[in-house]
Amino acid sequence: MSVACTQCGAAIEPRAGERLLVCPFCATALVVDGSLTLIHEVMVPTVPVEQVPAHLRRFLGGSSTVADLDRTASLEEPTLEYFPFWAFTVAAGGRERVVLEPAAPSSLQGLQGLELPAGSTRPMAAEATLGAPVLEPEVPAETAREWLVARDGELTVRQTVLYHLPLYRTPYSWQGRRYQAAVDAVSGKVFPAEFPAKAEAPFVGVAALALVIFGLEGLLIQNLAWKVVVYLVSALPILGIAWLTSKKV
Ligand SMILES: [Zn+2]
Repeated sequence: MSVACTQCGAAIEPRAGERLLVCPFCATALVVDGSLTLIHEVMVPTVPVEQVPAHLRRFLGGSSTVADLDRTASLEEPTLEYFPFWAFTVAAGGRERVVLEPAAPSSLQGLQGLELPAGSTRPMAAEATLGAPVLEPEVPAETAREWLVARDGELTVRQTVLYHLPLYRTPYSWQGRRYQAAVDAVSGKVFPAEFPAKAEAPFVGVAALALVIFGLEGLLIQNLAWKVVVYLVSALPILGIAWLTSKKV
């Protein structure tokens, strides 16, 4: 099978199964997608590896994870890899933006519909990735474009490029289980896979308690001024219980 170089139009014969290649005539980095070739670019990491644990711990210490996860999880050494994304330049409302869709399956959350992070990009070349693993694209660009349309509606794609973005894989363990996560090596953004999340039941309990107490007070007290006073007084212990719950869970 022969394909035409996107840049110079020369006919290229990729070896069987070869998808990432360099045009032998003009040296453009290309990806073979069906019968087409598309430009292949790579983004340069700017987050130093020493800062990766701090980025991950900020996520682990956030409000969606179990309490104290940032202090009780044990982090493994981060390893750099290059993850493939289809980058679609779309025009909407008179302005162009670049939307990324993952070009390989992943359990990481938040990879879909990313904006291209601000940073320096260059044509893909072996020197650009310094021996770090480069994951092959497995999702056809057309499939990724359908995800984009399903989420954002029908739009005009001006250009499609394959981007390899550097991600630090940072697995961690908590209570005998191993969890996956990655930190964007350009923006520092964290992409967690499944993580130890805060249980919702205790919060639903506190909300139900508040509803019952305020409801009863509303029914029993007719005088508006007294109603306000009683509401304020009973709000204090409820806030206290909510605060204790958020510390414990
Ligand atoms: Zn060429």
